[in-house]
Amino acid sequence: MTDPYTQLDELLKNLRGMIPTVEGLQNDLLEALKENTELKIENQLLREKVENLSAKQKPKVKQDGLAGLRKIYQSGFHICNMYYGSHRLENEECVFCLSILDHNHNGSEKNKNAKTK
Ligand SMILES: [Zn+2]
Repeated sequence: MTDPYTQLDELLKNLRGMIPTVEGLQNDLLEALKENTELKIENQLLREKVENLSAKQKPKVKQDGLAGLRKIYQSGFHICNMYYGSHRLENEECVFCLSILDHNHNGSEKNKNAKTK
């Protein structure tokens, strides 16, 4: 039969041993909460995108669609076919996304190749 002091000492050792595990769980939870928030934002943006697409199916609304895409891009998400809907790294420009925005902005790619004097 162990004395109360030894029992308490054992208990204390066990508790100390659990601290890294608890801290690990706390970190995991923080990561999950962060990811959850990001996914909520992403989901919201994609919903708006889908609503825009279904509300305006006429090809004539290129400009509005482009504004929406630019908004999404500036919010930190890809709009290109390669990575659509995924996060851009902070301050990272994507050439595929930019080419979409540029291309539609100029709106006259055909004239690009024609030399104008
Ligand atoms: Zn992109």
